[in-house]
Amino acid sequence: MKCPADPALLVDYASGRLAPARAADLGRHIETCDFCAERVPGYSAISEALDTWDSPPVSLDFNRRLWSKIDAAQPVRWTRRLFPAIPVAAAAAMMLAGLWMERPHASPQVPAPGVSVVEAEQAERALDDIQLLRGFDDALSDRPQANTM
Ligand SMILES: [Zn+2]
Repeated sequence: MKCPADPALLVDYASGRLAPARAADLGRHIETCDFCAERVPGYSAISEALDTWDSPPVSLDFNRRLWSKIDAAQPVRWTRRLFPAIPVAAAAAMMLAGLWMERPHASPQVPAPGVSVVEAEQAERALDDIQLLRGFDDALSDRPQANTM
């Protein structure tokens, strides 16, 4: 059965960082809990190993050597450098295609040179009116005339 005790608390206990009263309480729990009793020796060993580990001092030219190693590393191929740009270019192309498809009749009305759009519309309405009047005239001319005699 797994113990509900906090693993971080066990690590603190194993490294001796708990307050004495808290450590005593947890020590009594560990005596009765197989789960915790099994883990505390490992945590203690790791804590002691970290305490005794003596890291070498960083040399003064550490940064220079690190950057020279980074520079000497295998250069990245141009296709790899281009890779992040491909999704961006694809998204931009899709946005442009969407804008283009949204406005299929986007070509502006091109009036004849020297004629404004308003003048062209007025001329079109006038032609429609003339055609309508001709229709009336044709309808009237087909009717028998009453006062021709
Ligand atoms: Zn436990």
